[in-house]
Amino acid sequence: MPKLRLFTPGPTMVPDEILLEMARPIEHHRTQTYRDWLKEATENLQYLFQTKGTCLTITGSGTAAAEGAIVSIVPPGKKALVCHGGKFAERWRDVCKRFKIEHVEYEYEYGRGADPARVAEILKKEANIAAVITVHSETSTCAVSDVAAIAKHTRAHDCLLMTDCITSVGCLPFKMDEWGIDIAITGSQKALMLPPGLGFVAVNDRAWKVIDSFDAPIFYNNLKAFRKSLADWDAPWTPANTLVRALRMALSMIKKEGLENIWARTARLAKATRSAAQAMGLTVFAKDPADSVTGINTPAGVDNDKWRKEMKSKFGVQLADGQGQLAGKMVRISHMGWVDDLDTLGAIGAMEMTLRSQGHKCEVGAGTTAFLKGLGG
Ligand SMILES: *Cc1c(COP(=O)(O)O)cnc(C)c1O
Repeated sequence: MPKLRLFTPGPTMVPDEILLEMARPIEHHRTQTYRDWLKEATENLQYLFQTKGTCLTITGSGTAAAEGAIVSIVPPGKKALVCHGGKFAERWRDVCKRFKIEHVEYEYEYGRGADPARVAEILKKEANIAAVITVHSETSTCAVSDVAAIAKHTRAHDCLLMTDCITSVGCLPFKMDEWGIDIAITGSQKALMLPPGLGFVAVNDRAWKVIDSFDAPIFYNNLKAFRKSLADWDAPWTPANTLVRALRMALSMIKKEGLENIWARTARLAKATRSAAQAMGLTVFAKDPADSVTGINTPAGVDNDKWRKEMKSKFGVQLADGQGQLAGKMVRISHMGWVDDLDTLGAIGAMEMTLRSQGHKCEVGAGTTAFLKGLGG
């Protein structure tokens, strides 16, 4: 078996020192040791989200964090505006449906970002919208939305903006306070160099005001319970303390590299990957491509499943399929977290070799050469 190289847009590769940190003996969570970990991690989460707001760490994947946020920001008698152009934003619409949260939908084209002007129009037309729900980087279509521009409109209309930042925080520029975003969520297994299992919710005072105005129909991921415990650097229920221990280490690595440097690295990898795709005779799916993950259309005549299987069995390179209606039609390669130039060069090499054996015409070295040039080499 070749060495596994995980290029899926979550989970992503985890550095050895973080894996080893998690292999250490279990600590109890009602201890000063745990409080110190959570305090340190929480302060660094504020750096990660670029906020002075409250950063809650909950047990569960990103969906748990999003569910906790969505049910908490739309009081009875008010509505949500869900902007969707991909599977993840559609999930947040489905959360509204399941919790019987009144909502209006703004559906935009797959591969595009949400149009801020359209959001403004809807806000003007519809009364009683308490919160706009958006996805910053829509991982299913690999497209990015201008959430800073959307925030200008939500501010002007006195409603909240929630952004799903699961594949943006820690890889794409994101400035919660400066941009005026009220509640943002992310998860551990995408850009943060951690295994799955933690969700994060960053909340500002505007959002707390709404959250405190009613009792949301949720128990386990109740944001108020997490805020109350956090006052003592504690958690309301038994936390995944092994992951919190690792989080502390991951965030300090992120801080050491510096967010600006991470954003630049991610953007470089994405740009070079897009030019490699073009050089291999392939096209990128998104018209507004995100830099955190690149979605490449599977060329005519190539079986997506066979192509991905060959990359994995021959080279250990694991890419993700498309999701939903895009299944079988594209491959997605992540640029998030613990991944560098040579890792990605290897993945492009594997793509190029297997494309050829799957019958697609491309020169050996076409993609890898374009990738290296794209890096600025
Ligand atoms: C991965 C992802 C999710 C879902 O998160 P889980 O951790 O699988 O619950 C939601 N939104 C986006 C944009 C994602 O990339």
